[in-house]
Amino acid sequence: MSVRPLTSGCLFMISAPSGAGKSSLVSGLLKLEPNLKLSISFTTRPPRPGEVDGREYHFITANDFLIRKNRGEFLEFAEVHGNYYGTSKLLIQEAMKSGTDILLEIDWQGAQQVNKQFDQVASIFILPPSIDALEERLNKRGQDSQEVITRRILAAGGEMAHAPEFEYVIINQDFDLALSELRAIVKATRCRTSQQIVRNAALFAQLGIQTNTSF
Ligand code: GDP
Ligand code: ADP
Ligand code: 5GP
Repeated sequence: MSVRPLTSGCLFMISAPSGAGKSSLVSGLLKLEPNLKLSISFTTRPPRPGEVDGREYHFITANDFLIRKNRGEFLEFAEVHGNYYGTSKLLIQEAMKSGTDILLEIDWQGAQQVNKQFDQVASIFILPPSIDALEERLNKRGQDSQEVITRRILAAGGEMAHAPEFEYVIINQDFDLALSELRAIVKATRCRTSQQIVRNAALFAQLGIQTNTSF
């Protein structure tokens, strides 16, 4: 049940099991598509070495998370691998009002919540080429303890079971190919008729095209 059509600005959601390459692909995409804005989530997870508050995440305490949740500040939130993660409602509302394209890097539980609130969300699931590759990447990244890595590998199967709920699936074997596929999805979504009508209303009028179709 989708309730609210997006009037301007595309909303993208990208999910994956930990280690599939989601953050690396998103970082590559943002360099190629500077007009796409990444939503910085709030999390109770401790920062990894090199992570900066306000850049990868807003790192907050469990108590602060609960207060914000009770104030209704999250568009969606979920418990993932023993930590809480949530998307700021305010940031999304402001971006959508101004017609900015926005990208959410969230888990499948959050994706389900967002799909219930908005129509026309472009949702993408990233799969690793194998479980062995996933394990190897998590180890190679070298930023989580062995206990955390094991927990994430054990959770991967349950997360990947939700891939069919997403509009697009990318298999991240060759990184450059996966990045080009991700960029193609962004470009195609921006060309959706409903988006073009909103973004180019003056041109449609000038060309005499009736745009009162409901989407
Ligand atoms: P990663 O798996 O290496 O990206 O590890 P992270 O700790 O950065 O993310 C853990 C999980 O939380 C991932 O599945 C993310 O997609 C998810 N996540 C991050 N931010 C949010 C959020 O704001 N909302 C929800 N629902 N999930 C989030
Ligand atoms: P996620 O955000 O999904 O947890 P990351 O983007 O942190 O995953 O990637 C996990 C690790 O795998 C990183 O060390 C990254 O450099 C590496 N990686 C990402 N994509 C590929 C790929 N196509 N081939 C090999 N290694 C990759
Ligand atoms: P990590 O701790 O490795 O950064 O993220 C673990 C998982 O949490 C990832 O799957 C990531 O997508 C998810 N995640 C990060 N931020 C959010 C968020 O705001 N909401 C939800 N639902 N999941 C999130």
